[in-house]
Amino acid sequence: MARIVTLLIVCCGGIMSALSTSPIPTPVPADSPAIHIVPQPLSVTPGSGSFALGRGTVIAYHTSNAEVRKSVVYLADLLRQSTGLPLPIVDAATMPKRDYIFFNYIRDESLNREGYRLEATKDAVFLEANNDPGLFYAAQTLLQLLPPEVFADTKQPATAWSLPCVTIVDTPRFAWRGAMLDVVRHFFPKEFVKRFIDHLAIHKLNTFHWHLTDDQGWRIEIKKYPQLTQTSAWRADREDVHWNVRTPQAPGELATYGGFYTQDDIREVIRYAADRYITIVPEIEMPSHATAILAAFPEFSCTGGPFTVATGGIWPIKDILCGGNDSVFVFLENVLREVADLFPGPFLHIGGDEADKTEWKRCPKCQARIREEGLANEMELQSLFTRRIEGMLSGFGKRLIGWDEIMEGGLPARTAVMSWRGVAGGQEAARSGHDVVMAPTSHCYFDYYQGDPALEPISIGGFVPLEKAYAFEPAPDSLTMDEAKHILGVQANLWTEYVHQPAHAEYMHFPRLSATAEIGWSAKQHRSWPSFLDRLETQFKRYDARGINAARSIMAVAVSDSFDTSAWKRIVALSSQSGRGEIRYTLDGSTPSAGSPLYRGPFAISKSCVLAAATFMDGKAAGPTTTRRLSVTAVQNVKISLSSPPENTKADSSGRRLIDHRRAAVAGVDTQWTGWKNSDVMMLLDLGRTTPVQRVIVGFYQSPAGLVFSPPSLEVSTSDDGTTFTQVTRVQEASPVKDPRPTVRDYVAELNGVSARFIRLVATSPGAAPAWHRSPSDPTWIYADEIIVE
Ligand SMILES: [Zn+2]
Repeated sequence: MARIVTLLIVCCGGIMSALSTSPIPTPVPADSPAIHIVPQPLSVTPGSGSFALGRGTVIAYHTSNAEVRKSVVYLADLLRQSTGLPLPIVDAATMPKRDYIFFNYIRDESLNREGYRLEATKDAVFLEANNDPGLFYAAQTLLQLLPPEVFADTKQPATAWSLPCVTIVDTPRFAWRGAMLDVVRHFFPKEFVKRFIDHLAIHKLNTFHWHLTDDQGWRIEIKKYPQLTQTSAWRADREDVHWNVRTPQAPGELATYGGFYTQDDIREVIRYAADRYITIVPEIEMPSHATAILAAFPEFSCTGGPFTVATGGIWPIKDILCGGNDSVFVFLENVLREVADLFPGPFLHIGGDEADKTEWKRCPKCQARIREEGLANEMELQSLFTRRIEGMLSGFGKRLIGWDEIMEGGLPARTAVMSWRGVAGGQEAARSGHDVVMAPTSHCYFDYYQGDPALEPISIGGFVPLEKAYAFEPAPDSLTMDEAKHILGVQANLWTEYVHQPAHAEYMHFPRLSATAEIGWSAKQHRSWPSFLDRLETQFKRYDARGINAARSIMAVAVSDSFDTSAWKRIVALSSQSGRGEIRYTLDGSTPSAGSPLYRGPFAISKSCVLAAATFMDGKAAGPTTTRRLSVTAVQNVKISLSSPPENTKADSSGRRLIDHRRAAVAGVDTQWTGWKNSDVMMLLDLGRTTPVQRVIVGFYQSPAGLVFSPPSLEVSTSDDGTTFTQVTRVQEASPVKDPRPTVRDYVAELNGVSARFIRLVATSPGAAPAWHRSPSDPTWIYADEIIVE
């Protein structure tokens, strides 16, 4: 049954884009609820009135189609949980005349395998598609037409379960709409993996990339090699230390951090995903990122080891699987056979990234292989490695996909490429006829920060705010139509070096995965950041109902301030990524409320204070509270001199940056910081005349990964003549804590109104890095900024 498709795109009451000039759509009735679907459907034509779910509503389908039942049961289960309605499932033959939801196959060539048509009238809701995935996605859209509370897993009180009358015709743009979860850097239990798959389903994402093996662990049971789960799945516990400074497992130490999935677990997750039309792509890394394998099988390396499972970051990764040892390929073939037997999907991911060739260059076996095969270099040896694996996978009925490094040295024809180092590799692969999944770090790496690092949980670095994630275009205009056909789609990746817990994994993926879902699903011309933000407000309510710990970073208040030296005032501007809602703030550090002053534009402060600001919507805080100390140094024309010149690159040797009224940022390398290596440092302030001083505040940076530690103590002395100093106070810092998060620590020295012209500050060196640090004898740095005299 083919139906006429109305190609008018109506969203939020306005026409976004018209693919056809007629008919003119009916204006949206004023009282009809907003239709906020993520990802944005191809066409939405609102009707008038609504369909109400009630005690008499039934869900119908032709029971002869057993496969449809999966979507029917999925929808019924979700609806019953939150509505508490009985919603019996009936055969289409016994369907009542009205008050039903009907799943039905149609024949409509304009809809692809995953497309669907949804029509809600006052009497019934029709979900129609050519294929089962389409019916499943129609059910997902139906859920998003209902109040957000429908996503709760418990019965919700007194909500009107009605949806607006509407006709939606929808079909995805790309076939691969994926998300990756790294379960190696931190292990995530099977229950969370299933929960995550559920989250993907409500976004109409259809691919789950399961990163199962790496240097820090092996997470999949292989029957032939029990050592992989006895040894390779476990590492020494260094969870309290920054990822990049962890010491290796000590001799005799037990490996207690880790875990793995049994093959039964894997089958359970695969079934769960299949019921939600999600294909799992398992990743087994080779030849690099294989330290966990080498811990159990050192003979598969070039050197023979010994090795332990990495406890944290290692770089470069020199110890990789030997490329000239045939027993390595026997091992890999046995492993891949079991993996291929388990996973029904067409693709198997073999990694292939970041293979340092240091050991291959000096390994007799690798060099012999290069000579025998007439290869030009080690790059070509990796290419040969990839080709051998491709041959195995072909034999198992699988296609190989790998990170874009697998293109170096040549690539077998059927292999697909996941482009992570930007989009250029993906474009090149598409031009040479390889299928490509775009997942560049610039837009698709959700282990990167999504907001001001000072307000975010520690992350690996980078910056992919929601708007940037949303702006990604997987099929660049530079590709021809034929080349663009090789762009399978888009994927977001979450590496978990700094992500220890499920709630944190959700925080990093959501709401950014809403952006990925829209990039992968929605027509290019229908993507609109303002429309996305509108719909995201409802999406957040769905996340809340479902208990997804979505980040509110787009609502967080960013503080931009500068010092006006002529007026001797600090100018403060507040903003948020979303620009939605209203910003309210206090200047005494207290948590802002709906009654706090409303931010209307940049304002000036003439004395030091603590600003606290948050975004409010509907009278409630809609994001985290930003707290910032804003200083207005009381004393003008302060001069500074230093006992020794700063040693960090680009530092200003005069020390003026310490008193320039601009505070250095936590993230990255900020040239505002003034740093000294391995020595005490004395900073002398000349206030110009004898002045009563309440307090002196000095900010110090702490970043164990960068060997920057806050000083053990800050001694404060005063003098009237600059010669004879009296120590007034000494601020002590506890010994360096393991806290991996880069922080700024303010040392506050209370001087209680002491009169002085000169203030001498002596910060003591932390000395060598502490014993728990990977480089315990290395010298450390002190980074300071800013000195505030009040
Ligand atoms: Zn070798």
